[in-house]
Amino acid sequence: MKYCRFHLNGDVRYGLVESVAGRDEITRLLVTPPEEVGGDMEDLRTKQMARIPLSEAELSVPVRPSKIVCVGRNYREHANELGNEVPIEPLLFFKPTTSLIESGGTIRRPRLSERTDYEGEVAVVISKPCYKLSDSDDVRPYILGYTGLNDFTARDLQKKDGQWARAKGFDTFCPVGPIVTDEIDPWAGINVKTTVNGEIRQDGNTRDFIFPLELLIRYIAQVMTLLPGDLIATGTPKGVGPVVAGDVIEVWVEGVGTLRNPVTDE
Ligand code: MG
Repeated sequence: MKYCRFHLNGDVRYGLVESVAGRDEITRLLVTPPEEVGGDMEDLRTKQMARIPLSEAELSVPVRPSKIVCVGRNYREHANELGNEVPIEPLLFFKPTTSLIESGGTIRRPRLSERTDYEGEVAVVISKPCYKLSDSDDVRPYILGYTGLNDFTARDLQKKDGQWARAKGFDTFCPVGPIVTDEIDPWAGINVKTTVNGEIRQDGNTRDFIFPLELLIRYIAQVMTLLPGDLIATGTPKGVGPVVAGDVIEVWVEGVGTLRNPVTDE
């Protein structure tokens, strides 16, 4: 199933996304938000609506997380390109929910930073509360689906601060979308590509994760309860780099589509 959130008559609604004659369209309203059925998609109630091509919809952020947990350095070649060791256990940090913006929203480069980088990533959306899993628990029932995420970063502040709250946490630093899908499988491999002004900069695949998803989810859930709608950003492949005002970043995730965000100066 694929779904989005979009503006309709002054409200933000959930919409079912289906391919109609090769084009993605919003075909039905989801009366029950998918994060509220605990992974039982049969319990979703839908309602008829006049179809809208996805490309013409005014999209909103497709998730409403209580937290955004990010994994640093989960692709070997990316760890190397920044001069870091390949980690022996996952490196976690947060982005605040106030950093979220939708596909089409503008990223604002803060005056406090002189170097801001894109990081295209696949993000996991959590389906039901997840805490202290046993070794035999399957993580898949806790996954509602996947989306695209740009872990936008003030690289100079990241180096300067040690802690990453400022570097990763500015408003507009977490574009997410355009949709959520459960029709892709990171274990089998999902391609993720980032372009800047149409020029390809990152081209990775989730098969190259240092830490696979079952390990990441278990590791995070040893510490904190993951709640429905929470996001896990799974790390970025090699090829990160700076952008300036006027640039347009596109993070394309196979099966999710293109998360497109222009950049401006604050
Ligand atoms: Mg990242």
